[in-house]
Amino acid sequence: MPCRYFDLRTSTFHGGLTMYSERAIHGSSRTLDLVSVTAWFALCVPVGYKVWLACAHSAWSVALAALLAFLITDAISGIVHWAADTYGNARTPLFGPSFIQPFREHHTDQMAITRHDFLETNGNNCLVSLPALLLAWWLPLEPGDAVLSFFTILLFFACAWVLATNQIHKWAHQENPPPLVALLQRVHLILPPQHHAIHHGEPFTRNYCITNGWMNAPLAAIGFFPAMEWLLDRAVGLKPRPGEDDAEAAFAHAASAAAPVIQN
Ligand SMILES: [Zn+2]
Ligand SMILES: [Zn+2]
Repeated sequence: MPCRYFDLRTSTFHGGLTMYSERAIHGSSRTLDLVSVTAWFALCVPVGYKVWLACAHSAWSVALAALLAFLITDAISGIVHWAADTYGNARTPLFGPSFIQPFREHHTDQMAITRHDFLETNGNNCLVSLPALLLAWWLPLEPGDAVLSFFTILLFFACAWVLATNQIHKWAHQENPPPLVALLQRVHLILPPQHHAIHHGEPFTRNYCITNGWMNAPLAAIGFFPAMEWLLDRAVGLKPRPGEDDAEAAFAHAASAAAPVIQN
């Protein structure tokens, strides 16, 4: 249910509820974002240096790991986005306020993301990728162990793409992104606005992937998301998009209440 909140940044009251402002009500969100982003970049330096040194031994495997991580991250972004759009609601325990609500609200105010600053845009993704980055820092990167080295490099790039995902999504909604970003969008190296706009159009169940969008076509071709919805319904009775049922029920109730009573 929407509620009024006090925006700490603009010192004004608003009638809706944004992810950041809702978290600001509970306090410490800005601090958490700052700590997450600082820790992420502090850890990125030694891990990135390890990967840089690995380039001297096998530049091709580093490039392959970066590309593979780009595809994996895009698929993960789609799965996470689909899950948040499809199941539960803002009141769902644990995930509702901080995970589902921002995705749902993005559909009602697509431009809100463009007003988020760097910390607000990237704080959450830094936080969720920190454990993986810690693992990449801890794992050895020995030229003798090719598999483990490849996995460590893959992990590092996956963390980097996870960090980039929200920023790329924000650029896809910006009217005038920086020229270099616009070029990357045009050649589809990152999520192009037109490609992402399909997600925001009826029936709102396409193109969930938001890092580069490369995985949208293959996942659609194999019917991945409808198959997952069918499977979850059959396996545990989890109905997709229950909010739509609520909305339809509310609409039907309102319509019946407004209908004229015919007396015999
Ligand atoms: Zn969505
Ligand atoms: Zn969007």
